[in-house]
Amino acid sequence: MKESVGEWKVYSPATGEEIARMQETAAEQVPFIYKEARKAQVSWAAFSIKKRLAFLKKLRLLMVERMEEMAEAISQDTGKVKTEALVADIMPVIEGIRHIEKTAEKNLARQKKATPLLMFGRKSYVDYMPRGAVLVISPWNYPLQLAMIPIVSALAAGNSVVAKPSEVTPYVGVYMERLFREAGFPKGTVQFAHGGKELGALLTNAKPDYIFFTGSVRTGKIIGELAAKELIPVTLELGGKDPMIIFKDANLERAANAAIWGGFTNSGQVCMSVERVYAERTIYLEFLKLIKEKTLSLRQGASVDDDIGSMTFPAQREIVSSHIRDALEKGAILETGKYPDQWKLDEKTLFLEPMILSGADHSMKAVTEETFGPVLPIIPFDTEEEAVNLANDSKYGLNSSVWTEDLAKADRVTKQLVTGAVNINDVLGTVANHELPFGGAKQSGIGRYHGENGLRIFCHEKAVMIHSGKGKTEIQWYPYKKKYDSFLSLFKNYFGRRTNWINLIKDYIKIRKM
Ligand code: ADP
Repeated sequence: MKESVGEWKVYSPATGEEIARMQETAAEQVPFIYKEARKAQVSWAAFSIKKRLAFLKKLRLLMVERMEEMAEAISQDTGKVKTEALVADIMPVIEGIRHIEKTAEKNLARQKKATPLLMFGRKSYVDYMPRGAVLVISPWNYPLQLAMIPIVSALAAGNSVVAKPSEVTPYVGVYMERLFREAGFPKGTVQFAHGGKELGALLTNAKPDYIFFTGSVRTGKIIGELAAKELIPVTLELGGKDPMIIFKDANLERAANAAIWGGFTNSGQVCMSVERVYAERTIYLEFLKLIKEKTLSLRQGASVDDDIGSMTFPAQREIVSSHIRDALEKGAILETGKYPDQWKLDEKTLFLEPMILSGADHSMKAVTEETFGPVLPIIPFDTEEEAVNLANDSKYGLNSSVWTEDLAKADRVTKQLVTGAVNINDVLGTVANHELPFGGAKQSGIGRYHGENGLRIFCHEKAVMIHSGKGKTEIQWYPYKKKYDSFLSLFKNYFGRRTNWINLIKDYIKIRKM
């Protein structure tokens, strides 16, 4: 957590201690950063994919060596407990790099494609060409993962990268910069710009060849607007208000453990976290009792054995407070945690006890807006249809989960949920599988990464068709004289109910001779 722009003393939100002092990137540097990025990109793209992957492998091995140090740095900068830094921020990056090492050559290779009969004599394929200098702007909640995965994906695809980590967790930004330097990436291939939103705006205005943004809907819209004006391709990974639907036939013990982990991990500062629980009315009270008991047994603190760390960003605590107050005013009941009046707001540390809200409904901000805190509202439902309607009644559509032992029912519900991911009898899992695409529907964003297209989004997809060059002309070229009726006949013979090969060939030869 950085104290203020300009000062660059970094404090831990868990202990309040100063953990680092650092240098902000000057605004005047921006043109030079891009100049360097564009220069470096040419030689980086000229490397074979194998050679680029060798750099990524070196980075991965370095990260494996440094896991403990990284977990400490992330935990200090964000306030999250070290186990979460390791399992949910560091491990997914290491796994992600290994996935790229295994799949990049295949996914970036020339893809041969079929050529239709009427394009007789040609061959078709798709090539993937790097876009150039990619700008990656990342947030503070998973400061390593949400920066590193787009960075390494863009690099593997042959781009150079300008990374702008969040000013809320700048220490992790400096740490990542050091990792790339130590892994020996060529100068200018990946550069870090450290600063706040003003620097972010300067970097987006400097016309990168692609913008990969992860953060709030508000900023996503600003960046989307700019990208539209300049026609810069963009991926926007934004917020979520993810529903968890629990049917009466679910394994309730497992669902309860999942609900509290999915809701409170990283103090709920997760775009994919469980933010709304819908429980079938017949098990609602039993489920509420279960999650209440389990929540009360969680340990909160900064030690390696604690479950829940602190919040990261002071301003976020204000949002949580306003959502809780709004819910309580509208009749919700705070089942665990403290009322906002009892929070110790003067402290430098940002711990918030996990809060379960019963009696919640869709008039409350805690149910409709992204709270991004350790808050779990729970709402009963009566029918499958009602559960789907409640889940879809949101401007967001990132993640969701469905809990039932009836997999046909789970499938039915999954097909109706307007979200980028659905986890069945599980929470948050899809993001950890790099084979699967990641991204949101509705206001949760535009575009996908991870999966097969994780590297391809950072490329121009180029359609190529080759003709041997023999032969003077083609049937659809000039002159058109007398060709029209023969084309009608040719297309009827080809596309009609049954292809008439003999007439088709006759038509073709006839037009060729015209
Ligand atoms: P979050 O609260 O999730 O961090 P933000 O959207 O505030 O979401 O910030 C995400 C990232 O976007 C941060 O790195 C921040 O500095 C950057 N940022 C904020 N505003 C702008 C902007 N107008 N242009 C470019 N980057 C921005």
